[in-house]
Amino acid sequence: MSSTPLSAGDYIAAKCSKCAQETNHTIVAMVEDTPVKVKCNICSSEHKFRKPAAAKKPAVAKKPATRRAKADPLAAERQKWQDLESSFNSNAALAYSMEQTYKLRALINHPTFGLGQVQVLTGTRKMQVLFADGAKVLRCG
Ligand SMILES: [Zn+2]
Repeated sequence: MSSTPLSAGDYIAAKCSKCAQETNHTIVAMVEDTPVKVKCNICSSEHKFRKPAAAKKPAVAKKPATRRAKADPLAAERQKWQDLESSFNSNAALAYSMEQTYKLRALINHPTFGLGQVQVLTGTRKMQVLFADGAKVLRCG
């Protein structure tokens, strides 16, 4: 339990009723690992050991929850893109326009995001397109 077991003769902080405060005591008697009788080093009175209030229960330092390696939310998408990229024929990419409709898996060329593949058609004039930088939702016709 404790790293340094106490024994008779050791000093211990305890509440002394005579001194009416916490003072250093010498352990007079032990029962197993617990001092039962102590002698105040100030007034020399012997009395039962009373644990100082503060030392009741050492606050157990809670271990911080094991921090998960902060996953790059886009890492998976970037990886997916890289896997797809080799199969792309960038010459076949359609210029992106929000008035146009695109088929699923159509390759588009966005002026800002570059080459992308239509992944999901949401049906509300929107589509999710996977770009090298991750998936983005774009408007479509
Ligand atoms: Zn005392």
